[in-house]
Amino acid sequence: MSENEKSFTIESYLEYIRNKKLMGSRCKECGATYVPVRKLCTECNTANMEWVEMSGKGKLAAFTSITVGTPYFVEKGYDRKNPYCFSVIELEEGPMVSGQLVGVNESEPDTIKIGTPLKATFLETDIKGETKVDLGFEPL
Ligand SMILES: [Zn+2]
Repeated sequence: MSENEKSFTIESYLEYIRNKKLMGSRCKECGATYVPVRKLCTECNTANMEWVEMSGKGKLAAFTSITVGTPYFVEKGYDRKNPYCFSVIELEEGPMVSGQLVGVNESEPDTIKIGTPLKATFLETDIKGETKVDLGFEPL
């Protein structure tokens, strides 16, 4: 299946993430870009989309240091003593995407600055013998 035949679903998007690619959908009519993907352009209401690979570069728009994580993060070893940062990144292509922020001092959120240039990284975790890949971001 060629890239542009893949349907514009979250499942396809996550399959790309598992293959360590950050992909979005771009409207062929107006150029609006969506990450995660959308089937329909909210700007012009067309479904004339194509897959585009994102550079993965962006800047930190928002973040929160989380001490009481979801079961998934608890399983990954995060807790009150070992918090993790969840962040929102404005990609250089425009879309906002969220993911774990790594390579920062999570225990001292004051040291983390909005606007910090970041790049995408793909975080691998082994859970019950299965390797999971999650989108994350780290300082450039
Ligand atoms: Zn459009």
